[in-house]
Amino acid sequence: MKGGWQPTKTAIFMKTIIKTINPENIDMDIIEEFGKMLADGKTVIFPTETVYGLGANALDENAASKIYEAKGRPSDNPLLVHVSDIDDVETLVEEVDEKARLLMEKFWPGPLTILFNKKDVIPSRTSGGLSTVAIRMPSDEVARKLIRASKVPIAAPSANISGKPSPTKAEHIIKDMDGRVDGILLGKDCDFGVESTIIDLSGEYPMVLRPGCITLEMLREVLGKVEIDPSLSSMADNIKAKAPGMKYKHYSPNAEVYIVSGENDKRIKKINELIKVNSEKGLKTAVLCMKMNSSKYNCMTFDLGNSYEEVAHNLFGALIKLDELGIDIAYAESFEEKGVGVAIMNRLKKSAAYRIIET
Ligand code: AMP
Ligand code: MG
Repeated sequence: MKGGWQPTKTAIFMKTIIKTINPENIDMDIIEEFGKMLADGKTVIFPTETVYGLGANALDENAASKIYEAKGRPSDNPLLVHVSDIDDVETLVEEVDEKARLLMEKFWPGPLTILFNKKDVIPSRTSGGLSTVAIRMPSDEVARKLIRASKVPIAAPSANISGKPSPTKAEHIIKDMDGRVDGILLGKDCDFGVESTIIDLSGEYPMVLRPGCITLEMLREVLGKVEIDPSLSSMADNIKAKAPGMKYKHYSPNAEVYIVSGENDKRIKKINELIKVNSEKGLKTAVLCMKMNSSKYNCMTFDLGNSYEEVAHNLFGALIKLDELGIDIAYAESFEEKGVGVAIMNRLKKSAAYRIIET
């Protein structure tokens, strides 16, 4: 086990209702049934376009507590609040200013979370004791219909045990979460595969607290100057991260992950040398790489795809698979930190505990 804070994975034995929903032909009876569970203060896992979320009524302190319990989540790590309609935001926050309105018009529904000063209706359990609340409106139809059916805003962090990679496919959910929540609604694979971009508009200029698929470049087109929270660039500084969740151990498989950077041919050569050393020690090694390189390594490879969008979509699934296959050491090719590459490298660095091998 790596150092730092460890979640308690205490056993919780609940009867979990599990249903599968077809996103092409949404069964409204199932949506109503799960919406009622949420309205009654219960916990439900559901698909979104980013990752699967573990939801409960954001206005109900007890319901929000159940999320922390199910995930083993530290209590100062606030929950994201999901709404089904833009108009719902005004009931939850002090003010929607011009910049927020521009972003909501351009990127909602979609994977962008905006921080607002909260109204008192948001209990401090949901906001992790902060005076702000993070809100987004998902584009996934199942998610939006479910939230609308519940008739309340839904607090929903990622549906993983705290510290583990976020689930992006139905098959990632059951093993860890059956018995820990009231309901699980299984749907299709999540389109984007990394969590939403989080933006804070309260400072001198807008600041990205967590990079995602709404990229810095896209945000700058709408707002002009936008920066990325400087504390995200190294582990030491992560302690001061403005999104409290970014300071915790995160996305960590049991395997030891290393990022290998440098020019492609040199990187392949270095990784193959390391694979040889590992195999002499009897260690099971795997490589996470772009499709064009997947036949170039002398061990098991996880082909993450041809484009950065595909890499984002496949990354968490590959990290989860490492544990299923009992891999000891995984090498991940590094990605260029522009566009979606910023979000990919942010998640990879955290899963690798910032271990980078330069070639
Ligand atoms: P998750 O959905 O599991 O990725 O967790 C939500 C993320 O949003 C965590 O990193 C939180 O720290 C962050 N977050 C939620 N609310 C706030 C807030 N009010 N201010 C800053 N970060 C927040
Ligand atoms: Mg999470």
